[in-house]
Amino acid sequence: MKEKKRQVSIQRAEKLKSRIEDFLEARKGIPKGMENEEELIKRKNRILEIFNATEENWNDYKWQLKHRITDVETLSKIINLSEEEKVRIDDVGKKFRWAISPYYLSLINPDDKYDPVRLLSIPTYKELEDTCEDLDPMGEEFTNPAGCITRRYPDRLIINVTNECAMYCRHCQRRRNIGEQDLPVSRKLLQESIDYIKENEEIRDVLITGGDALCISDNNLEWIIKQLKDIPHVDYIRLGSRTLVTMPQRITDKLCSMLKKYHPIYINTHFNHPMEITQTAKNACEKLANSGIVLGNQAVLLNGINNDKYIMRVLNHELLKCRVRPYYIFHAKHVQGTAHFNTSIEDGIEIMEYLRGYTSGMAIPTFIINAPKGQGKTPVYPNYIISRGPGYIKFRTWEGNIIKYEDHQTKDIREFLEE
Ligand code: SF4
Repeated sequence: MKEKKRQVSIQRAEKLKSRIEDFLEARKGIPKGMENEEELIKRKNRILEIFNATEENWNDYKWQLKHRITDVETLSKIINLSEEEKVRIDDVGKKFRWAISPYYLSLINPDDKYDPVRLLSIPTYKELEDTCEDLDPMGEEFTNPAGCITRRYPDRLIINVTNECAMYCRHCQRRRNIGEQDLPVSRKLLQESIDYIKENEEIRDVLITGGDALCISDNNLEWIIKQLKDIPHVDYIRLGSRTLVTMPQRITDKLCSMLKKYHPIYINTHFNHPMEITQTAKNACEKLANSGIVLGNQAVLLNGINNDKYIMRVLNHELLKCRVRPYYIFHAKHVQGTAHFNTSIEDGIEIMEYLRGYTSGMAIPTFIINAPKGQGKTPVYPNYIISRGPGYIKFRTWEGNIIKYEDHQTKDIREFLEE
């Protein structure tokens, strides 16, 4: 009998092995930042040479921020661009601002037009060809009850503290906020926002974002966090920052020591592709995690970047190695200038289909469609329920087996125990 059970287990294990073979094969061809260290060092040295700068400069986020590449001539010294591409980047820049930190630029293969990091950061002409006029599909301008707040839910809200980012993502869904100049929000507006939170006791969760929450100074950030921590009904604070991806030098010991004083603090970041996960980015994530900060990732589903069931699985695995929990995958809304990144919803559903069961639950974020005009996040799943009725539910498993499962009404626990 024992032998028979072992035989059944071996057969099952073989079947499970066959379910992952395609992924193991595909994974070999997916470029990862962690496997490209030597090349990244060469590119870094090249950029340092161009700027006549030092390793110390490179590791200083203020230097990174100050030396963001914003002109096509400097860009073309680092990335191979045709004359036509240069003109086009200039044209796009007149309408949609661009800027790339030297670190993030070093992740790009200078010869690959379709390099995902390049597509995420260097303008393409498609931005100008897009005829969509909507710059605010989430209707954020109608969800701003005070100061620099966005409120879309009953118990939580966002404070937008700056319009600055270390790199201006080409798919940004808030590109209307980016403007022409980097502007931290005024103390007056921040105070108005804090007063609103004080007056509304149901607010228990505040997300500080922008732009990028970590593009403001430690002092300004601490001032905001301290004000919020002094409000008794605020349970915890979240920060939204992509600097872990685009300028990991921002995660300094000083920042970590400051944040540590105000736990619980959560940070949600925004990795979209395994190429963005480098040793430097991993070190930044670990530094925050070692300071007790819980990290989550909000990826955006983007055409040509990560709308692929294998790439998304690798991304989630790489994130977990950095102690970042995959949290959301957002379906990209159609914002002016971003049409080339839009995918079908089917792409997202397929990705979810090939995560559940195929990999650990920890590596499975929620696929979200943001309902128009600020109506909030709606989770979208592959369909597992086939039918439901009195006393039963019929569903399919991740492998496609159809199961009819007994269901019964929940009884009152007190009555139940007295029976
Ligand atoms: S970091 Fe966020 S806010 Fe800034 S450009 Fe990228 S997506 Fe937009």
